[in-house]
Amino acid sequence: MLKQTIKTFVNRLLNPSQRTRSSGPRRYERQEHGIDRRLVSRHAVKVCEVLSQQGYEAYVVGGAVRDLIVGLEPKDFDVATNATPEQIRALFRRARIIGKRFRLVHVVFGQEVIETSTFRADDSGKQTDEHGRILRDNEFGTLKDDAARRDFTLNALYYDPLSETVIDYHNGVADLKERLVRIIGDPETRYREDPVRMLRAVRFAAKLDATIESKTKAPIQPLARLIENVPESRLFDETLKLLSCGHAMDCIRRLQAQGLDSKLLPMVSAVQRLPGGEAFLEMALARTDSRVRAGKSASPSFIYACLLWKLVQKDWQQRCDKGEHPQQALLEAADAVIESQTRIMPIQKRFQSDMREIWFMQPRFERIANRAIWRMTEQPRFRAAVDFMQLRAEAKEVDSVQAQWWMDLANAGDDERSEMIAVRKPASTTATGSRSGQRRNRRRRSNAKRSNAAGASES
Ligand code: ATP
Ligand code: MG
Repeated sequence: MLKQTIKTFVNRLLNPSQRTRSSGPRRYERQEHGIDRRLVSRHAVKVCEVLSQQGYEAYVVGGAVRDLIVGLEPKDFDVATNATPEQIRALFRRARIIGKRFRLVHVVFGQEVIETSTFRADDSGKQTDEHGRILRDNEFGTLKDDAARRDFTLNALYYDPLSETVIDYHNGVADLKERLVRIIGDPETRYREDPVRMLRAVRFAAKLDATIESKTKAPIQPLARLIENVPESRLFDETLKLLSCGHAMDCIRRLQAQGLDSKLLPMVSAVQRLPGGEAFLEMALARTDSRVRAGKSASPSFIYACLLWKLVQKDWQQRCDKGEHPQQALLEAADAVIESQTRIMPIQKRFQSDMREIWFMQPRFERIANRAIWRMTEQPRFRAAVDFMQLRAEAKEVDSVQAQWWMDLANAGDDERSEMIAVRKPASTTATGSRSGQRRNRRRRSNAKRSNAAGASES
């Protein structure tokens, strides 16, 4: 405790952002911060209005302010206020208090939820585990306290939509303009309190095309192993954010450079060692990134299906080489790969079953009989599986004409689909051979069939 107090004191002397704190916040007017209020969620503005009419302070805070200043579209809008959760809840028709570690209020407007939290007290003196990780965090504080406990200077900006002012205690606007990710307070202490901050540093650097400031970066590698103490569900959520922030490959490279990848994404280095593995990952993630940047969603199961595919494919091939039936071999390969991954880092069951569906449709695309196509189009992951086939075509694993046919089918209306299926060459003449041939081959377990089946995934 004494050690911590001395450390905090020395830090305040040395750390410029802490010095700014003692001299009060900077305030930026509309023309300086450049936020166009029309781009702020009207529901977030409404929450701030209602709270301030009742005499409370209320600001839009965090990622939304950061993103609006640099011209990105915010994912969601959070509000911070000095009203307590009960006081907030009493003011809105549809509001519920959630959270155990820190109680906050979800104010609901149709589809949109405005997460509204009470200013939190400064982190110092909180109950921690033996590594310094904060266990309980449920005390309220002032705006200044709240700013001090946020992770990075560029995430500690408060926007008042009524006066259109940004309040900045830690030089966040300047850091944001210089594209610097700088932690608030002593980096090592802050990472020990919450190791996920190391992952967040990487994500914001990739997303904002920024640099992690040198003192903020220095302890990351030495402390990387602390990630193992974080509950896996939280790590999984953070991994999804890293993979779907629109800069996935950049995030992965930065994670690898800091030694943060082995727990989160154990498959990546294994895939990179396989022939064509790195290229496949790059291509798959580049596609996901461009979808995200175009404002479309990237489903976690699709991303994981991509990340694990080369491992599945290798295992599949080996099983086919031993004479297993291709579809059965794929099933077992999928099980084996998922099992080995989830031993290190769990993947939620519902994502696992979606991944399997995407994979299992791959060989079927090549040998399905025309009469079975309609049923296949009704499978929930059909569209994702077709997208996945496109990716494989790009990687020259499957014929691009065939992949395009399936894409056209997925995009077509019912009438057009019927016509396409009616004139489709029967499965007997597709690349993987006839179904009756396959049945014969299955019985014989002939070598010819083995190489043909495995080739279906490789050619
Ligand atoms: P995005 O929503 O784009 O992922 P964000 O910055 O909004 O980014 P959230 O997880 O939504 O991230 O958190 C909202 C805000 O809460 C952050 O901007 C930051 O101020 C604060 N915050 C989030 N996580 C932490 C943390 N681990 N430590 C300290 N402050 C945090
Ligand atoms: Mg956010």
